[in-house]
This record gives sequence, structure tokens and C-alpha cells, in this order.
Amino acid sequence: MDRKAASRRTFLQTTAGGLVVSAALTSPDTQAAESSSATRIANPIGGDVLRTEATLSPDAKHLLEQPRSIPVVGKTDVLVCGGGPAGIAAAVAAARAGASVQLIEVAGCLGGVWTAGLLTKILDAENKSGIMAELLHRFAAEGSEVANQSNGTVYDPEIAKLVLEDICIEAGVKIRLHTRLVGAVTDSDRRVVAVVTESKSGRETWLADRFVDCSGDGDLAAHAGCRFDLGVGADCQCQPMSMMALLTGIDADEVRPYIRETASSAKPLLLKLMEDNGMSPSYRAPTLRHLHSDIFSIMTNHEYGVSAFDAGAITDSTIRARREVHDLVNGLRRIGGPWKEIAVVATAEQIGVREGRRIRGRYKITADDVATGRKHPQSVCTAKFPIDVHALNDHGNKEINSEFKKGGHQPYGIPYPALIAEDVDGLLLAGRCISGDFIAHSSYRVTGNSVPMGEAAGRAAAVSIQQNVMPHELDWNEIKG
Ligand SMILES: Cc1cc2nc3c(=O)[nH]c(=O)nc-3n(C[C@H](O)[C@H](O)[C@H](O)COP(=O)(O)OP(=O)(O)OC[C@H]3O[C@@H](n4cnc5c(N)ncnc54)[C@H](O)[C@@H]3O)c2cc1C
Repeated sequence: MDRKAASRRTFLQTTAGGLVVSAALTSPDTQAAESSSATRIANPIGGDVLRTEATLSPDAKHLLEQPRSIPVVGKTDVLVCGGGPAGIAAAVAAARAGASVQLIEVAGCLGGVWTAGLLTKILDAENKSGIMAELLHRFAAEGSEVANQSNGTVYDPEIAKLVLEDICIEAGVKIRLHTRLVGAVTDSDRRVVAVVTESKSGRETWLADRFVDCSGDGDLAAHAGCRFDLGVGADCQCQPMSMMALLTGIDADEVRPYIRETASSAKPLLLKLMEDNGMSPSYRAPTLRHLHSDIFSIMTNHEYGVSAFDAGAITDSTIRARREVHDLVNGLRRIGGPWKEIAVVATAEQIGVREGRRIRGRYKITADDVATGRKHPQSVCTAKFPIDVHALNDHGNKEINSEFKKGGHQPYGIPYPALIAEDVDGLLLAGRCISGDFIAHSSYRVTGNSVPMGEAAGRAAAVSIQQNVMPHELDWNEIKG
């Protein structure tokens, strides 16, 4: 029998220990089929794949993969995982400070919740300088009249995608989209030295001198072995997820009272309209925003009790949420009048995840810091946004959970040590995965804070290489520039 044909046909071979998935490159003209998978190199651009060599356990509950060689495809000074608000800023700041930078993003665009999540509003941004101010300026200048009037804080996600690509390219950041980090490697001194990704190009290894975890969920840090906290209470309850959507077919002048930027009465008014017409949204503070011409965004969905680390549950909630958004928009259309032509333009490709891992850092921001307005000596920015915990379940109020607000809030500093992983070296954190408790996280997580955190982490990563020290050996006040 032809050897190549045999290697493709004999896909599963039974052995005494269970099933062996035979290894072979599936391209018919490859010559590598006979070599060990530990040394084989596939040509992914030509469509080759490195097949999995593995043994299924006798109880068929686990697959034991054999060692294989993963090509090193990149080596930069700094590697940033996650191209959301924090990751963009980290990558740009590190590049502007003179580092070569690789940015890895799993989605097909930069921006995270800003773009793939269709957010449309940047909170706690107007008191910020640096990259945050620069982005607001560009969102306003390159966006619509509405973006301009809101100083860039109400933005069009499609414009944001372009602006973010431009700012990264201008800074010289190497961007890799469609690529998910799935592993991190530490050396014997517990220093992060490499990460592993998966994509259409297969498994790949990336080396860097410093790493910045901006994945929102703290994926890089968790893979590097860092401890973390999750949610609140013994069962780690997390804030609900929400599916955002863009809408069209309504006239801003005709629905003005329902638009969030008009007045604080807009949300209750829209809820009343929905309820009076038989609708019961899972998020009871429906938020309608006007972006430009006849394009709007809406947030009116809560998915309760979904773990950010359960792909099956996220899938179910995504499907459920998308259905709810469409059902509610159909309900609004049935009201007629100014709503008679309302339609969904797009639901978010990525359901909005409010909470994932909070990685243990060298300082933990607490509810007490928020309540007392603590000013840390190494503060990278001031957070003003209040405690904002959405309902954790659908038993009672399906809006905001005010029980956690009791301690109050005052403007407080986000300390540089909260951006440095405690358990490994060479790893910085930025965005919603930094070190803090459940209540503090509900305040600092918004994007107007994520950007300056990213900017600080990126700059520190670059400067620590130049000074040949680890990030935790730097004093923020001496390097902030
Ligand atoms: C529904 C909702 C509404 C919100 N409303 C507001 C609001 O109005 N205004 C506001 O300012 N904030 C709001 N927030 C909070 C805010 O959006 C987030 O806290 C903020 O986006 C955090 O920024 P980030 O960069 O840390 O994370 P993210 O925006 O989540 O970005 C993380 C990025 O990392 C990528 N990524 C994740 N894992 C991997 C991996 N393993 N490999 C490669 N890439 C990876 C993701 O695709 C994403 O692009 C809201 C959040 C949600 C969910």
C-alpha cells in the first residue's frame, strides 16, 4: 500500500493502551511524514497541518499528547497578549519607548470590548492624559458629529477599529490577529520566557524579554502559573455578561427622550416603554445610544452566572443573548410610530465579559482604597468611576447591585505595583485583570482606566529592559516620563 495514503487512512490505530492518533502531515507531497512529530515542521501557509499524535486513555476520558516541536515564529523585546483598550495602549507605549513589540489578539480586529464587543461609550476617560486623550481626540476627529460633541467618549466601533490599527502601525507595533494565547513558559527562575499560541498557522512559540497580560481574563498570567482571584464569595459569583448590538431605522429627534445622553431618565423611560408593551429585558436599565445618522447602540441584556472560562456556557449565553436582543427589537418595532422601522444592524461578535481572573500582583487594590480615595505614591492614574456591580443573578433586581456600594467611593490612585504579577518575573498586567478585590475591580475595570494602565505597563516593560532590571525593581515616578 502507498505509504502516504496509508498514513492518511490509518487515522486511528488501536493499541493495547487505547487509541493512537497517528501523526502525519496531510499535504500529499510532504516528505516529512516519516519523521517524528517532535521534529517535524509543517508549512502552514501551504495548508499543511501537524497532526496530533496522542494516546487515548483506556477509560476514554483523556488524550495524552506526545511531545512535539513548536516553531519559534517571533522574538521581540515586549509581547502584549490581548489587543483591547489596555493592550493597545501597552503595545503603543512600549513601542514609543523604543522596544520592539508583538501584539497578539484572538479576534479579527483590535479593540476588545470597544469593537468586537460593540461597547460605544468610554467611561472615566475625560480626566486622563497620554494615549487615552490621544484616542479620544482621534475618535472625535475621525468620527461623527456625535463623537465630536462627546469629545470622543461616544464612538463608532467601526471607526475605532481603524484608529486603533493606525495608532499601532504608526508606533511600529507588529500585530497578529486571529491568534489565541494557549500557553506560557517560565524558566527555572520563574521568569516568563515564551508563550504558545494557536491559530490557522498551527501552534507557534513567541519569545520576548517582557510580557504584558492584557487579555482581560488574565490568560497569560494563569498559564504562567500566577495565582488569581475570581468573583465574590465561596462560589466565585461574577458579574453578568451582556450582548451589545447596533441598531438602525429610528430617528434621533423622534426618540430623543430614550437616548442615554439626553438625560438620566432615558433608561427608566425605555424600560417602561418595553414593559408597557409586554417586554421584560434581562437587564432592566436598557441603554440606547445615538452614534450618528440613524445608527444607534443598545445594551439591554444580562447573562447571569456564566463563567468566563466555560466555552460551552459562553456559547449558550451568546445564542440566548442574541435571540433576546432580536426579540426585544422586534417588540419595539411592533409598537409602531417612531419604532416602526427599527432593525438590528449587528450583534456583537463577542459577548461582553465583565469579569475574569484578577491576577495576584505586588499590590492589591481594595474596596477600602476606593472608599477612602487612597493616593498611592506610585499611582499611574486616578480612577473616579464609582463602584458598579451589576445584578449577580436574576432573582431580584436585574439592574445594579447596590449592596456593594455601601462603602462609597472617592477618586483613588491605581498603583503601579498592582500591574506587576507577584508570582513570576517579567510579567506586567493591565486592564480588568490587574490585582484588586471584587469591589475595587467593579470601579477600575472601565476603559478610561484600562488605557492608562496599559500605557504604564507598556512603558515599564520597555524601560525595564533598557535599565536591565525587572519591572518590580522600577519606581514608577522615576520612569513615567
Ligand atoms: C457589557 C459591558 C459593558 C461595559 N460598559 C462599559 C462602558 O460603557 N464604558 C467603559 O469604559 N467600560 C465598560 N465596560 C468595561 C470595559 O469594557 C472592560 O472592563 C474593559 O474592556 C477592559 O479592557 P481590557 O483591555 O482589560 O479587556 P478587553 O476589552 O476584554 O480586551 C481583552 C482583549 O484580549 C483578547 N484576548 C483575550 N484572551 C486572549 C487570548 N488568550 N489570546 C489572545 N487574545 C486574547 C480579547 O479578544 C480582547 O480583544 C463594559 C464591559 C462590558 C462587558
